[in-house]
Formats: sequence, structure tokens, C-alpha cells
Amino acid sequence: MGSFAEFASTLERVRSTSGKNEKVRILSEYLRGLDEDDAERATRFATGRASQKGSSEETQTGYSTIVDVIEDITGLSPRDISQVYVKYGDLGRAAEEVIPAKKEMTLFHEDLTLGAVSKTFDEMMQSKGKGSTLVKRGHLKSMLLRASPVEAKYLIKILTKEMRIGLVEGLVVEAIAAAYGLNMEAVRDADLLLGDVGLVARQARAGKLSEVKLELMRPTNFMLAEPMQTPEEIATYYQRQLYAEVKYDGVRAQLHKKRGEVRIFSRRLEDITASFPEIAAAAKRFGDDVLLDGEIVPFRDGRPLTFQMLQRRLRRIEGFEEAQANSPVRYFVFDLLMLDGVELYRRPLRERRELLGRVAEGTGFSLAEMSPAETAEEIARLFRASRSEGYEGLVVKDPESPYTPGRRGKWWVKLKEELDTLDVVIVGAELGHGKRAGRLSDYTFAVRDGAAFRVIGKAYSGLTDAEIEEMAVKIKAATIHDDGYYRTVDPELVIEVAFDSIQKSARHDSGFALRFPRIKSIRNDKTPEQVDTLERVRELYESQKVRSEP
Ligand code: ATP
Repeated sequence: MGSFAEFASTLERVRSTSGKNEKVRILSEYLRGLDEDDAERATRFATGRASQKGSSEETQTGYSTIVDVIEDITGLSPRDISQVYVKYGDLGRAAEEVIPAKKEMTLFHEDLTLGAVSKTFDEMMQSKGKGSTLVKRGHLKSMLLRASPVEAKYLIKILTKEMRIGLVEGLVVEAIAAAYGLNMEAVRDADLLLGDVGLVARQARAGKLSEVKLELMRPTNFMLAEPMQTPEEIATYYQRQLYAEVKYDGVRAQLHKKRGEVRIFSRRLEDITASFPEIAAAAKRFGDDVLLDGEIVPFRDGRPLTFQMLQRRLRRIEGFEEAQANSPVRYFVFDLLMLDGVELYRRPLRERRELLGRVAEGTGFSLAEMSPAETAEEIARLFRASRSEGYEGLVVKDPESPYTPGRRGKWWVKLKEELDTLDVVIVGAELGHGKRAGRLSDYTFAVRDGAAFRVIGKAYSGLTDAEIEEMAVKIKAATIHDDGYYRTVDPELVIEVAFDSIQKSARHDSGFALRFPRIKSIRNDKTPEQVDTLERVRELYESQKVRSEP
């Protein structure tokens, strides 16, 4: 049985080395010594999760419960604890500092194992309703009483989903490949398909990576579209008939229906069924078991409403009746990945779309509006039509394409009116000047390059005061190293930046710099793995050279 102490000390070593390769090496060596069950648990815990991704079961152990328990076992006052917490902005680190002061000791001290911790987390998840807080407190207390300070830190980091040791999922995937001598791309593909790194580790450890399958009620990652600039670029690239679909502006949603049960997942693979109960109820009308992909759009009287209406639904600000009246939605479906237990995602879109039409008949669900198009003129005309109906533009798809979970490629291309923006992740922060003096408002941000992040610029403006405050709290909490004027931040906060152009630059390790970057929005809906890549920056750089030529 893998010991939890060994897990915690491995993560401590990962945390204290800054080199990515070294982090991967330490983790892979550790994983090599674990059996399947522990490999699953350790990798899942290392990414800050107590349960499988997409699971509707959460331990639901909030800050106040954790602080209560720490209080209970250390005898410290809430004020003492909150002082330590404020120092770090991280409850796990605070616990590590105060736990040695614990008074009670269990009579028989039994070391924590990965298995025992996992079992306790499961029990905490299963405890629901009245009295459950008490039960959870009891479980947490008994674990913390058996834990060393470092173990306590990691137990709490998992419960609060705040790992912050510079170990993004991409590095865990690399460590799995290295530990079991597997091809990195194969492991990455399995991770994108299964959506949960723990399951990947289990399959890899068992030598069954090639057997991974889609499964109903377990989310998979979403296929993404690459941007192209003009209808001409699209027509010239393909030179054949394509499917031009309306690009809806809503939330991407994956719907799983298995017998009488329905679950809906977001792009972060979170269960969002409770936000859209009317869609879940209507989906029971499908005669078959299905795995669908589509976009949930705020929609009334045949027209889309503003995106803000959806935010209310997602945050579940109102009761359901009210929400449905104020922000009615429609689910536009555009793909079918599984039908009655049969995987379809490798089959061409042409076939999937045809089957989708058949299974959706009579269910009341709308298929995304789609028209065949081949020439630049046809694409341009459909683009204008989509815009005039209040939609964002087009997603143009190759009818011969498979569905590639989690991959952004040219099988799907998107055409929008707007100028380019990049989704980037914050890796550093500084105090601002002038109007923003003394506030953490200047961000250094990066794009993804494999499992690493490369800096591409700094941005100073674009957010409201309230947003700057909100970000400052998160940045403090995500700080790995603070040398006074500059904070190195664990890559977790995603923002969307607009810019005027891209230049080559030796100043940043990406080799590029954005000219006049400004923050367009905070993208809480995206994970660091989903930010734009260095490759895309290179493409944009090349394409702007083409555009600026006479
Ligand atoms: P954007 O900000 O343009 O939505 P993104 O980075 O969030 O970009 P992309 O995958 O690059 O996501 O853009 C495609 C997105 O457009 C999809 O994720 C999906 O949410 C949405 N979308 C709307 N209509 C369609 C459609 N018919 N087919 C595929 N995706 C669609």
C-alpha cells in the first residue's frame, strides 16, 4: 500500500524544484513504484482532485469546515488561523504551519495510506444532507490527527483543489509516459479521451493504454476549432465541399443520456446538469442512449439573447422557474460521439451528422444550422447571414473529419468578425503604477508550449477595479515565489488578451511579444491546458506578415 507520507514528500520535492524536467523525473520515479490503484489515486491527488473529473460527487469541504477542524485539533482561535492564512492565501500551507501545535493525539497511530485517504474522501462525498457537515468534520479530523504537517498540507490542498506546486496536468501526463516507458502522444491522447488523469495512470500502469474507450456518463474533452482569417483562406485551404455551421455564442455542452439518466458537462468537464434541468428532462425523449456535443444558447422568440443571460444560469443566481422565464435556453446539437454503446467519434462527420439527424427527430432538439459550402463566395454569404441573425460567425467543418477530443486542428475552422485575441495564462504579477499604484494589477502572461509555458507579454489595463481586486486575491493565493516587487504565479488564471500585432522579441522566452496587449476578459471557463499555444502565435505572426504585404 502506497503511503501518504511518501506521496506528500514526493510533491514537496516537485514543488521545490523549478525545472519542469526535474519535476517530471521526480514524479515518474515515484509512480514507477506504485500499483494500479495507487497510481490512479496519486496522479489524481497530484492534480488537486479528490474525485474523478466530471464526477458529480465532491467532498464539499469548504474553508469554514476545514478551519473549524484545524481549530479543534490545534486549540488555536479562528483569528490566529486566519492570520496565518492571510500570510499565504493558501489553507494547506497555513495548516502545515499550525498543525505541529496540535494537542490531541490518537491512541493508536496508524500511518495514512493513499488507499485509506481515498476511502475517507469517498465517505465524505457520500455523506449528504442533514448532519453531513458533522460527518465530514469527523473524517477530516481523524485524518489530520494522523497526519504530519506536510501530509496535512497536501490533504487540504486536495480538498480545496489548490495544489499550486507548478505541476500542471501536462507534466503529470509526461510523468506517466516516462514512468511506464510509453509514448507521450499516446498518453496525451488517452488523457484527452478519458478526461481524467487518474484513469490514464491506471490504464498505463496496467499496460492497457491502447484499450481506452469513450464511456457514457463520463465526459471527454471537446474538439476545438482553429481560427482562419477570411473565407478565401478557408476555400483555398480545402478546395472541396464543406459543412458551414452557424457559430453560436453560448456555453459548449456535452450531453450524455443513458437509459433514464442524463448528465451535462461543461468545457472544463464539470457537471452542469443542475444549471439546465429543462434540457436534461427533455433529453430523456431520445429513444437511444447518446453522447452529444453542442452549444447551449440563451434564446427567445427565435433569436439569441446576450451571453450575460447565461452567466446567471450557470451561477444559479435565481430559482429555476425564474431563471427559465428570464433566461430561456436552447441546446443546439452538432455532433454525435456515441450511439447505443457504439463509439462513433472516429467515423467521418458526414456519417455522424446523418445519424444525429435521425436520432434527434421527434425529440424537439434543434440541430445546429448547417449548409454545404465550397467557394469563398458561398462561405462569405453564409457568414453574413449568420451575423445578420445575431450569431458570431461560422464554424466550417470537413465532412470527412473524425472527432478529435481536446484537439484544436484544421478539421474545424472558425470565422469571426472580431480581431484576433489570445487566451493566455498568468505566470507573474507586479504592483501597478499611477492609478493602480500599490495594487497587484500588472500581469505577465504566457502561452503553452507542450507542457511548458512561455512568456509572451505583460498587460496593465482592461479590467474594472472590482475585477483587479478579485484577481489580486487569486494571484496572492497562487504565488509560488514572492520577491517583493515581482511574484511568480502558478499558472492557473486564464485571461483573454487583445493586441495590435505580434513582434519577434528576445525579451520573453517565447521569442515573441504582443504589441499593445489589453485584457479583454477573465476566462474562468478555461483551464491552463486550454490556453493558446506558441505554435498558434507563430501562425498569427506569419499570417500578419502576409496581410501587411502590398
Ligand atoms: P471562442 O472565443 O471563439 O468561442 P474558444 O477558444 O472559446 O473560442 P474555440 O474552440 O476556439 O473556442 O471556438 C469554437 C467554439 O465555438 C466552440 O468551443 C463552441 O463553444 C462554439 N461553437 C458555436 N457554434 C459551434 C458549432 N456549430 N460547432 C462547433 N463549435 C461551435
